[in-house]
Amino acid sequence: MKILLTGGAGFIGSNLSRFLINKTVHKVLIIDSLSYSGNMETIEDISSSSRFEFLRADIRDNNQIKDIFHSFKPNKVMHLAAESHVDKSIDSPRDFIDTNIFGTFNLLECARFFFNELSNKQKLDFKFIHVSTDEVFGDLDDSNTLFKEDSRYKPNSPYSASKASSDHLVRAWHKTYKLPTVITNCSNNYGPFQLPEKLIPLTILNAFEKKTIPVYGDGSQIRDWLHVDDHVTALLEVANHGTLGETYNIGSFNEKKNIEIVSQICEILDQLIPHDFSHKNLIRFVEDRPGHDTRYAVDSKKIQRELGWKASINFTDGLADTVKWYLDNQKWVKSVEKKQSNRQRQGLKL
Ligand code: NAD
Repeated sequence: MKILLTGGAGFIGSNLSRFLINKTVHKVLIIDSLSYSGNMETIEDISSSSRFEFLRADIRDNNQIKDIFHSFKPNKVMHLAAESHVDKSIDSPRDFIDTNIFGTFNLLECARFFFNELSNKQKLDFKFIHVSTDEVFGDLDDSNTLFKEDSRYKPNSPYSASKASSDHLVRAWHKTYKLPTVITNCSNNYGPFQLPEKLIPLTILNAFEKKTIPVYGDGSQIRDWLHVDDHVTALLEVANHGTLGETYNIGSFNEKKNIEIVSQICEILDQLIPHDFSHKNLIRFVEDRPGHDTRYAVDSKKIQRELGWKASINFTDGLADTVKWYLDNQKWVKSVEKKQSNRQRQGLKL
C-alpha cells in the first residue's frame, strides 16, 4: 500500500511514519512544509528506509500537490498537516485559517481530481483519512458527559474553529463528490517528539533545567490523555477498516487535570534526579489563556465496538517513559529549540 502522509515531520505524523516504516511493509511519502513545528531531525531515524520518501511541500500549493498525487499515486491519504498550537492561534489566527481550512480544501480538491481518474478497482482501495481533534466539540461543563461522534460542534478557539471547518469540508466532499473519506477526532496526545512548547514536554524540560513551570489559571482544566502510539494504531485501524463517511472519536477514558499531570511529572523527576527540593516547588500559576476550555473528554466506544481498537498504554507507564525519553534525547530537544530561537531572531513566526 502507498500512503501519502501530510504533516509527517510533526509530532503525531512522525510517530505514525515511524510505525509504518518499522512495523508494516507500506510505502510512505511524507509531505510537509517544515513550518515551525516540522523538523527533519524528527524523522532522521527512518529517512534511510527504501520505503520512505520526503518532499517539502505546502498543502496549500495546488500545482505541487496535484503533481504529487499523480506521480506517487497513493492508495491512502493520511492528513495530519496543520497549525496545531492553540496559543499561537490566538496570537496569529490567519495562519490557522490558511493551512487548516484552505490547505485542507486544496488537498481535498487534488484528491478528488486524482480519485475521479482511478479505475473502479483502484477506487475501492482509496481512502482519505482526516485527522482532527476533540476540541471541535468545545467545552464540557457537565462532569458526567462525554463527546460523542454526533455531539454538536461548538469550537471556542481559532485553532478548534479552523479544525471544525476542515471537518465540515471533508464531510461535504464525501456527501457531494463521493470522495471516500473518514474523520477522526482525537483527545490530547503525549509521547516522544512533541515540541517543547506543549504542556507535558514543557513541564519535563523546565523541571529538568530547574526553571519555573508555568501552569495556566489554577490548573484545573481537564483533558483525556492518550499516548501517541495508541493514536497511531487507531489511525491504522481506521485507514484499514473504517467505514467511509463515518467519524470516529479516539480517546482513552483517562481524564486528568493539568495540575495532576504537572505534579505527576515532578514526582517522576524527584525519583529520577533527586535534589534537596521537590520539582513541585518550581510550579507557578500564570494568567489563564483567553477562552480556555475547562474540560474535554471523548467517548471512544464506537471505535472499540466497530473496529476493535482500544488504548493499550497505561498512563503512569506512558508518562514515565515519556519523561525518560526527553531526558535521553537532549540532542533532539536542543536542535528543535535552536530552530525555534533562530526563527525568533530572524523575526519569523514561530
Ligand atoms: P504538529 O504541529 O506537531 O505537526 C504539524 C505538522 O504539519 C508539522 O510538521 C508542520 O510542519 C506541518 N505543516 C503545517 N502547516 C503545513 C502546510 N501548510 N503544509 C504542509 N505541512 C504543514 O501537530 P501534531 O500535534 O502532530 O498534530 C497533527 C494533527 O493531529 C493535527 O491535524 C492536529 O489538529 C491533530 N491532533 C493533534 C492532537 C495533539 O494532542 N497533538 C490531538 C488530536 C488531533
